Amino acid sequence: MTQIQPQPGIMQIELYQGGAAHVDGVSEVVKLSSNENPFGPSEAAIEAFRRSGYELHRYPSTDHAGLRGAIADVHGLDADRIICGVGSDEIIHFLCQAYVGPGDEVIHTEHGFAMYRISTLAAGGTPVEVKERDRVTDVDAILAAVTPATRLVFIANPNNPTGTMIGGNELARLAEGLPDHALLVLDGAYAEYVDGYDGGAALVEARDNVVMTRTFSKLYGLGGLRVGWGYGPRAIIDVLNRIRGPFNLSNTALATAEAAVRDQAYAAKCRAENARLRVWLAQALAEHGVQCDTSMANFVLARFADQAEAEACDTYLKSQGLIVRRVAGYKLPQCLRITVGDESSCRRVAHAVGQFKGGAR
Ligand SMILES: *Cc1c(COP(=O)(O)O)cnc(C)c1O
Repeated sequence: MTQIQPQPGIMQIELYQGGAAHVDGVSEVVKLSSNENPFGPSEAAIEAFRRSGYELHRYPSTDHAGLRGAIADVHGLDADRIICGVGSDEIIHFLCQAYVGPGDEVIHTEHGFAMYRISTLAAGGTPVEVKERDRVTDVDAILAAVTPATRLVFIANPNNPTGTMIGGNELARLAEGLPDHALLVLDGAYAEYVDGYDGGAALVEARDNVVMTRTFSKLYGLGGLRVGWGYGPRAIIDVLNRIRGPFNLSNTALATAEAAVRDQAYAAKCRAENARLRVWLAQALAEHGVQCDTSMANFVLARFADQAEAEACDTYLKSQGLIVRRVAGYKLPQCLRITVGDESSCRRVAHAVGQFKGGAR
């Protein structure tokens, strides 16, 4: 019998639970469990995807110059300080692999994204969970949790699954308050949904201890393709590039993401439609006695009386072919996270929650 053992920390990882996509016995389901763009990718992206089929015998670019250039153009950034990954998950993973090892601590918030903990443990580090204040990131609590062992601080802004965000002054105060041996990582997976928000890019420019991560999985509707990117100080991006696989992104992924980011007219349309329907959905839920925090993202966090009511509502929604996300794993057992779908999905989910609250079970 082999005696080989995995590295310390790995067996503490609990497998990531993706959003469900099927309900037994129900054929017409609406998936509102993974914060996907209900309108799908832009036509330009689909066209680039198709064209890439003719180039599949070619190895992809190793430097991602085309995609980095497009991102830099659109966001007004320095292309040399952009790194692209297999989803922003891979950028998170690179950061942990590069800067975290046994004895090092990584701070994340109480209701923070699961990948921060998973990537920390995979690197042999120790995740440190910090309380939020009424489901909002608490900068003072984070600064109080910093120790000489802290290496990374992960904040999603807006946060998943709460949908809340903190302002630029608070982000700057957090970055300013960190010691020299720690980096602030601003996860901007939902930044594209916030009108006028740069995801923290200006803070990256102004400082040497902030990294921003972004994704094509949400607003750009390319979750199935797996493309994300990071922006940071040159020295840090140089470190991350050393551990990045040379061919981590396929031709198809690079070409499709480039077309998607260049189609800002489509992105603006999706952003506006999401904002309109998010307000409508939150208000419709409130009329049925279900409160949500003001969300800045493409989902709302619906709060029920307790875990039993949230689970009963989830079961009822499933029976109606509506799949939403239970978030007990994010320490929010009394809540359900509902992605803002298209108009008919929003109407269906609001109607079903109304029926449930009115006594239908
Ligand atoms: C969806 C999401 C991501 C994006 O992950 P990808 O690997 O880019 O698909 C990152 N962070 C948060 C908080 C998310 O919700």
